[in-house]
Amino acid sequence: MGKKTKVGKTRKDKFYQLAKETGFRSRAAFKLIQLNRKFGFLQQSQVCLDLCAAPGGWMQVAKQNMPVSSIVIGVDLFPIRPIAGCIGLVEDITTEKCRQSLTKELQSWKADVVLHDGAPNVGRNWLFDSYQQICLTLNALKLTTQFLRGGGWFVTKVFRSKDYNALLWVLKQLFKKVHATKPSASRKESAEIFVVCQEYLAPDIIDQRLLDSKYVFEELDLENKKKNSLLHPERQKRIKAEGYSEQDLSLRSILSATEFMKAENALSALQGVGSIRIDDDRIANHKKTTPEILECCKDLKVLGRKDIKGLVLWWKAVKDSFFKDETAAVIEEQEAEETTPKQLTQTELEELEDLELQEQIRTLTAEEQKELKRKRKKTLKAKAKLHEKMNLNMVIKGDDGPVEETGHEIFDLKVIDSAVELDRFLDVSPDFDVEEEGKEAEKLPKYKKYDKDDKKMDDDGNYESDEENASSDDEDSDEMVNDEQGLGLSDDGEDTVKVGKGKKAHEEHPLIKSSDFRDKDTKRQQRVQLWYEKDNLQNIASDDDEENYDLKNMAKEYNLKGVSLLGESTLSGDTNGQALLGKKAKRRARHEIETKDSSSDDSDSDSDSEELLKDDTASADMSKEPKSKKVRLTENELALGALMIRGKKTQRDLIDAAWNRYAFNDENLPIWFTQDEQEHMTMAQPVPQELTEEYQRKVQELNVRPIKKVMEAKARKKRRSSKRMAKAKKMAEKIMENADASTHEKAKQLKKVYKKAEEKKKEITYVVAKKHTASRRASRPAGVKGRYRVVDPREKKDKRSAVAIKRRQKKGGKTGKGKR
Ligand code: SAM
Repeated sequence: MGKKTKVGKTRKDKFYQLAKETGFRSRAAFKLIQLNRKFGFLQQSQVCLDLCAAPGGWMQVAKQNMPVSSIVIGVDLFPIRPIAGCIGLVEDITTEKCRQSLTKELQSWKADVVLHDGAPNVGRNWLFDSYQQICLTLNALKLTTQFLRGGGWFVTKVFRSKDYNALLWVLKQLFKKVHATKPSASRKESAEIFVVCQEYLAPDIIDQRLLDSKYVFEELDLENKKKNSLLHPERQKRIKAEGYSEQDLSLRSILSATEFMKAENALSALQGVGSIRIDDDRIANHKKTTPEILECCKDLKVLGRKDIKGLVLWWKAVKDSFFKDETAAVIEEQEAEETTPKQLTQTELEELEDLELQEQIRTLTAEEQKELKRKRKKTLKAKAKLHEKMNLNMVIKGDDGPVEETGHEIFDLKVIDSAVELDRFLDVSPDFDVEEEGKEAEKLPKYKKYDKDDKKMDDDGNYESDEENASSDDEDSDEMVNDEQGLGLSDDGEDTVKVGKGKKAHEEHPLIKSSDFRDKDTKRQQRVQLWYEKDNLQNIASDDDEENYDLKNMAKEYNLKGVSLLGESTLSGDTNGQALLGKKAKRRARHEIETKDSSSDDSDSDSDSEELLKDDTASADMSKEPKSKKVRLTENELALGALMIRGKKTQRDLIDAAWNRYAFNDENLPIWFTQDEQEHMTMAQPVPQELTEEYQRKVQELNVRPIKKVMEAKARKKRRSSKRMAKAKKMAEKIMENADASTHEKAKQLKKVYKKAEEKKKEITYVVAKKHTASRRASRPAGVKGRYRVVDPREKKDKRSAVAIKRRQKKGGKTGKGKR
């Protein structure tokens, strides 16, 4: 399998190279390219005749490789895609019409090279196909004899079949040199080979039987001895043409199981067989004669490779059991592959191959382009980075920065690839001996003086007290513990073991012997306390915790003073008792706390104490649920909400998405950084745009839609006005009918009627708000009917002054500008 892939890959690479070089992408084209590279027939030709040329790969290759002024004429059953400098004819090369068309095109010219890549589009069976192809080749040869110049080339595809040798013999009669070759572009499994015929002999007379398929193949196949007499048919007795064997053409032939078992080669025995008849009970009852095998025997034509293999195995087993003596057959897998019944025609197979090849080439090209792009991108990125660094003066020319040193294999984890290796590295002896270092330290008294009983001397030669020493010792140990073990709850002995040899030596050093008198537990507790008292840990504690802690402490204080706390009265009997204390006690307590708090600086605790000291009414108010504020969500928020309730996964994804590079709250950042962040930091929308748009659309719809109540009111208004108008109309008619009234009177009356019918503006009574009612919702003022509006006194005054100004202006206008 691996081998196959490797081979496949090299072939693939080769084609890829070829495709890159030539620009062609079809296997057919590659074949001609390879043939031409080997023999160079195209370069020498001016006129090329391409028989069976569609879809056109060969024509293009020919045109590309031939001199500029050359001409290529292609013939095929199907129309050929137009190619510059080429002529395409739709003809059957086996017909006389094709010959005439070619004569018309070529006139008196002769072709320098004739190419033939024809394959019949039939798929009955392999034998039939190969025969058809070889006949087609012979037809192509026939045309070649008519249109090829002497000394010209004929390049043809041939299927290797039993008739192949006969064809080769004919070709040898007509050409000086005949080369049979298989270019690597041709599939190995394919039976096709290419015959390149060099230097056409151009005999004056050619026996037409040489070009007659029936004669050539049958004659030569039946009696090889008569080969040489073919050029002189007049001396020979004509052999009756029998046609293609009936067995090959028949659709159904039955083979008996006994015959099959007796055959020397299972696969050749199965050739052309339609079904196997089980004629022997021994075979029928054999354990390998499974229902599946019996089913396969019914119709061999529909079987695939796997089924044929199954039949061969069955044949082998049965043969070994009953027909062992007769023959011993060895089945090779290659044979099985080669003679597998063909499901597809050669052309179809080639087309498939071409497709596959093109796909492979496309993939490889894409891969290569991707790789190139990636490399380019990488280089550009590196360049940009360097440029930036240079701009920031981070890189100094000539300074290559720290260079990775090799040879420190102890740090190179790649070197360690087994447990033994690992042990070897772990057991490595240190570069310096700690013991020795300790010994050296022991020599210190030579140079330092100290009083062993009372004081110690530090490195600078100063004496220090025991307490100082103890604290410094503590500090040291804390540091060590924090660095290496966090809380450092293990005792000294454990520390020594865990920290290693160096530390042990340090602990045992005579000069730094611990003067700590505390026992192990006390030490441990103190260490824990110290750890928790550290600044950074206090910062870590959440604000909530701190708040709770403060509240608890304060609550305790208030409880002691006899003040009942909100929510605590029902919890304990103790507080119950305290709740019973009178107002006096509470007030006293409040006073005490206030005086105490006023002395302290903490303003927060002030406000907290006030909160806690609320009386019963206040606490009742507080116990009420705070009114939830009505929040108007934006379309985007609505969409986000919709996504949140869609499913747990979506919800989780959204929450996860919130953890992005914007989700941080760093402090003490440089100003330029913060400014840049503010300018460019925009949170990516976790909500799809469509969903938001959907909500926007909904809101728009709602806004556009008129409110029902408004519509109803408008309708009522309209109805009322139309009623009034109808009434006025009736009145007007009556007025007009009145003969007693004069026209002037009538007009007066009509005016009055229509004025009445017109909608009256509702009168609004303005009521000036009084101070004591201003903040509350005012009740209807006494004596006011209909619509009224509460206005503030200022508005009234403003209106009055506005009227006064107008009046004054009017007066001024009348009297003239001089007055102003
Ligand atoms: N060389 C061609 C190229 O480069 O694309 C491919 C040839 S293709 C394998 C075989 C061609 O032979 C088919 O296009 C088919 O139409 C043609 N063919 C088969 N029988 C033919 C006939 N009797 N006359 C003309 N063309 C024929």
